[in-house]
Amino acid sequence: MAKYLVIVESPAKAKTINKFLGSNYHVVASNGHVRDLPKSQLGIDIENDFEPRYITIRGKGDILAMLRKEVKKADKVYLATDPDREGEAISWHLAQALKLEGKQIHRITFNEITKTAVKNSIKEAREIDMDLVDAQQARRMLDRMVGYKISPVLWVKVKRGLSAGRVQSVALRIICDREKEIDSFIPEEYWSLDVLLDVKGEKKPLTAKFYGKEKEKMEIRSKAELDKILSGLENQPYKITNIKNGERTKKPPLPFTTSTLQQEASKLLNFSTQKTMRIAQQLYEGIDIKGNGTVGLITYLRTDSTRISEEADESVRKYIGQVYGDEFVIGKMKDSKKNGKIQDAHEAIRPSNSEMSPTKVKESLSRDQFRLYQLIWSRFVASRMADAVYGTTNVKINCNGYIFTVTASKIKFEGFLAVYKHAEDKADTNLLLKKLSEDSELSFNEFESKQHFTQPPAHFTEAALVKTLEELGIGRPSTYAPTITTIIARRYVAKENKNLYVTELGEVVNQIMRDAFSSIVDVSFTANLEYLLDKVEEGAVNYKTVIRNFYPDLDEAVQKAEKELEEVKIADEVSDVVCEQCGRNMVIKYGPHGKFLACPGFPECKNTKTYFEKIGVACPKCGKEIVIRKTQKGRKYYGCEDNPECDFMTWQKPSGKLCPKCGNALLIKGQKLVCADIACGYREDRVKEDNE
Ligand SMILES: [Zn+2]
Ligand SMILES: [Zn+2]
Ligand SMILES: [Zn+2]
Repeated sequence: MAKYLVIVESPAKAKTINKFLGSNYHVVASNGHVRDLPKSQLGIDIENDFEPRYITIRGKGDILAMLRKEVKKADKVYLATDPDREGEAISWHLAQALKLEGKQIHRITFNEITKTAVKNSIKEAREIDMDLVDAQQARRMLDRMVGYKISPVLWVKVKRGLSAGRVQSVALRIICDREKEIDSFIPEEYWSLDVLLDVKGEKKPLTAKFYGKEKEKMEIRSKAELDKILSGLENQPYKITNIKNGERTKKPPLPFTTSTLQQEASKLLNFSTQKTMRIAQQLYEGIDIKGNGTVGLITYLRTDSTRISEEADESVRKYIGQVYGDEFVIGKMKDSKKNGKIQDAHEAIRPSNSEMSPTKVKESLSRDQFRLYQLIWSRFVASRMADAVYGTTNVKINCNGYIFTVTASKIKFEGFLAVYKHAEDKADTNLLLKKLSEDSELSFNEFESKQHFTQPPAHFTEAALVKTLEELGIGRPSTYAPTITTIIARRYVAKENKNLYVTELGEVVNQIMRDAFSSIVDVSFTANLEYLLDKVEEGAVNYKTVIRNFYPDLDEAVQKAEKELEEVKIADEVSDVVCEQCGRNMVIKYGPHGKFLACPGFPECKNTKTYFEKIGVACPKCGKEIVIRKTQKGRKYYGCEDNPECDFMTWQKPSGKLCPKCGNALLIKGQKLVCADIACGYREDRVKEDNE
């Protein structure tokens, strides 16, 4: 009997596949990559046309020895790593390390780990696709060159152990830019005005919102403007001028890509991108389902395609028809949008079998697995369901030329909302509207007015960052989660609640990157590199060309930065804090949490202290010095040096001047000074000081 060896990357996947293949197949796992660039050196031979030098990853020797033994016993070897660039590269490295020669290599891929898909893949075995491998090699080498060449610059300038990454540095820059935008945001005042009207014969009053004049919407920007409108409304009658009934539809969502799955799981389940990917990987590789054995529950999780296979499309339509009724099935599919990207050979993330409803598998899944599976399942089913239809009512009320409106909506036909409904889809029913007619008699009850201020742009969350990275074209399904995980692990960014904040260290690193390596942190430069990698995958561009064009500029920037850093040869800044153990003046150093004080007597004296940098501004509450402080997670704020005795704190830098109107601190916001008390509203132009 012939003997076949199948190599995959993970034991869980091996277990699932093993079940589908006959007894002459033996499935083993490589536990991920077996070869990589060496850790101790660049590993790319610049002199020799950028040839990469791969070595066996430390600790993988035993696995390789085991695999070699298995290869010897086998008549055929199938490489069944994941169906993307990285998976192709793992297969290639395996083939190299195991010295598999031409004919012996049978590369198989499947988008879902089901019996049919795995069996079919064996029939369609092919050679290794070197275009895919090269795209992955190019990414690895670009990242390596950036990390390896730039990191030492950071060591000289800031501290040892720091590292720069290619995509991470752009992500950090994007977050820094947003924080700057938030810091310089100046809130604008506006008012809302509601009128409560009694309707003859009804107990509850009707609430209508101020709109403006008949012909134009009006914003109320101050109390004075509000008072003017109120005086125009005084003792005037209210009359319904128009009741409009209409309809609006809401389209079902597309099935998940990696990016949209990460965003929704963050919003609805509060999962980090890393957690989402970890659990999705488990669902993809296979879970022991009672009565079914090990089953791969979802299709491959790294994809930017929203395409659905014909078989899956047909079977889910059938399912929807049976469970919800035929009117819930979406009309025959509009040609799903081709985005021109190569990964469109892939499919969206969907259940491998739509009949495996979440309730059927619930008892075999952990809570998190269940919640993510339910999300993927319902999103997929919803994507093949009809539009939701809302009935809308819009009432216009006139009072002395001013217009107030009341709107309401209710669901007429649920459509896809029957399986995929979230807070924002809820209709705002207003039963009172049904009873209104243009003859209804209205009488004034009271006004409700409220002062508001426009809000600055929101801080980035993981979900928002993934969305932005995708929109800017500087991420790929395999990179979103690692990019975010890395900038948090390096403490360049702190995550508090769901928000991402730049740390002091992140600010310093970002500044150096912008000054010395502006192209590396340039969004369009990075997007273009990603585009070139796509071209390599298509076979249109040679990967060495990308590397050859990239390296010289990087090398030049590094040499220039080294020289300039040499010139300013930064000595440790001496503080006025005296070491109480040895009497030396302590110096300011950078640590993982930002600046700290260390005794220059090290190693004899190991004294260190928290460092609070003074900003040369007096506390508006007590007159002591304002210092830069950090929250536990690393977010920067300004507080009094006398904390906790004095509780003054602000996120924005205080200017040292006090508000002439109310005496509060004036904060620096871009080109303006703004009163810390938003309700006071005082602001003035900022006179730049010489040292800025
Ligand atoms: Zn000391
Ligand atoms: Zn104070
Ligand atoms: Zn003020």
